[in-house]
Amino acid sequence: MAWPPSRHKPLAGRRRQCGSSYNRILWPSRSRSSELLARVDIVELVGRYVQLKKGGANFMGLCPFHGEKSPSFSVSPSKQFFHCFGCGKHGDAIGFLMEHSGMSFVESVHDLAQQFGMQVPEDESSPQERERAALQRQKQVTLSDVQEKAGQAYRLHLKNSPRANSRT
Ligand SMILES: [Zn+2]
Repeated sequence: MAWPPSRHKPLAGRRRQCGSSYNRILWPSRSRSSELLARVDIVELVGRYVQLKKGGANFMGLCPFHGEKSPSFSVSPSKQFFHCFGCGKHGDAIGFLMEHSGMSFVESVHDLAQQFGMQVPEDESSPQERERAALQRQKQVTLSDVQEKAGQAYRLHLKNSPRANSRT
């Protein structure tokens, strides 16, 4: 028998990894979620869950976070914030979604982007990294309210932050 022909054709030159450049976009980064918030109308968003009526500069409705019969839940189109005079909950559009749906920050951002027809680039970061970024974000944006809820995670985060330890 002749030399068995190789079943495998020799590689003609080295195959390149087809230019797979890793763009490590950390979504939601600060700029990206503020870009999202800038394009989202909180009145429109909240209006999908709560019946709102215009009252002065704000919109009022029955608070979805505590039982009530007269509206003490207000949404400010100018500030893009919601605030409940009954239970004290307040925050921005992302905060509303988190509160209303019980989703994490990252999930809420994705959901919000989807609801408003925005493309959400998938990032390459691990869930842990994203959670950490989310915590950071929460700290910056909805400090007052999230502080209570995410108190434990937040404090844990602070404990690990060298800056926090230099506080007197
Ligand atoms: Zn309330």
